[in-house]
Amino acid sequence: MDITIARQVALKPHHTLGCPAIAECWVEVHSLNQLVEACQYAKHQQLRMLPLGGGSNVVFTKHFDGVIAKIAILGKQVGAKQGGQIIVEVGAGENWHEFVCWTLQRGLSGLENLSLIPGTVGAAPIQNIGAYGVELKDVMASLWAFNTENEELKQFSVDECQFGYRDSLFKRPGSPWVITKVDFKLNTQFKPQLSYQPLKQQLAGKTITPQIVSDTVCQLRLSKLPDPDVLGNAGSFFKNPVVSIEQFQSIYKVHPEIPHYPVDSQQMKLAAGWLIEQCDFKGHYQGAVGVHDKQALVIVNSGEGTGAEVMALANQITHKVGEQFGIQLEVEPRVY
Ligand code: FAD
Ligand code: NAP
Repeated sequence: MDITIARQVALKPHHTLGCPAIAECWVEVHSLNQLVEACQYAKHQQLRMLPLGGGSNVVFTKHFDGVIAKIAILGKQVGAKQGGQIIVEVGAGENWHEFVCWTLQRGLSGLENLSLIPGTVGAAPIQNIGAYGVELKDVMASLWAFNTENEELKQFSVDECQFGYRDSLFKRPGSPWVITKVDFKLNTQFKPQLSYQPLKQQLAGKTITPQIVSDTVCQLRLSKLPDPDVLGNAGSFFKNPVVSIEQFQSIYKVHPEIPHYPVDSQQMKLAAGWLIEQCDFKGHYQGAVGVHDKQALVIVNSGEGTGAEVMALANQITHKVGEQFGIQLEVEPRVY
């Protein structure tokens, strides 16, 4: 066997919320062959297998009685030209932000608004990562994924991934797919995406280049988001709710100050952070677990908080927002 299986591995250092939990088995996979072996080992032992990247979008609430496969498949390669775009092929285990910087150094643009998102390239399609008006689906050409049930390796087009708002086919519970490689279509001609007000404001009066957009996104993020190396968190804990125009109008009558963004003629996106703040949770702590004082959408773990405590606070928030606004918040990270 070309893989090493470790037993009873502490998961606290392997995810950014830093909750205590143990994995029954742990394996690092550096190639497709190693992934196949890890999958066969799990099947043989009748254990479930969970792929893990940087652990920045997961909550571990209990002992994980299966095999965690840390996806460490590396490699970045500039491929074919397609019109004004260049295809870049990237291994699933590459660090996302390092990859973004690598593209900028090569004069390729498209990823600058997605700077400083923690995690790996292979996890980026799982929830169709998005920030400052750009989503993964806008820059992806295709991806390769391995089916742990029938051992098929399949190339997916953007349409086949069924991308949605912080969602994809791969985020659904029970998905058998492990992403091994992602192909991006990047621009040689810069087309800035500056629809988000804070970004636009920060860039006013500056000569706009992809590197300057990236630097500005990094500054904005560092100014309001907690650094997971300092304060445990999984980024936004809830998705921004999308409601019908009728429901929006009835809330707007009472709260005309509510931040809102049209999705289409029938639906409105509301800022979940604002709803949580109205329910007085901003800066509120229960033991080590709390709501960040600069961004109410982020649940933080200042030390020894457990996943169960994180979920208990999340449930209280969901309940209160439901009671006060009639809106059901949806948890964004995957809970295990
Ligand atoms: P993990 O947390 O390791 O995994 C997440 C899920 O994907 C798990 O279900 C896991 O099983 C699955 N998975 C991981 N790798 C694979 C693979 N190769 N194949 C199949 N399944 C896989 N998200 C945004 O969208 N926008 C943001 O702006 C953003 N900002 C953040 C800021 C902070 C401070 C933090 C902590 C998080 C933020 N996030 C954001 C969430 C997170 O960074 C992203 O979702 C990221 O893509 C997760 O990558 P990861 O490698 O850490 O995934
Ligand atoms: P913000 O600028 O304070 O805005 C609050 C919310 O309003 C955002 O969540 C954003 O929705 C929405 N919004 C703002 N301007 C918009 C516009 N012009 N059109 C449509 N929607 C708009 O947000 P922030 O907390 O500082 O985050 C900045 C960006 O980074 C956001 O895109 C956010 O999603 C992303 N981010 C994501 C995570 C995560 O873990 N998922 C963590 C940190 C930051 P969207 O979220 O739909 O963009």
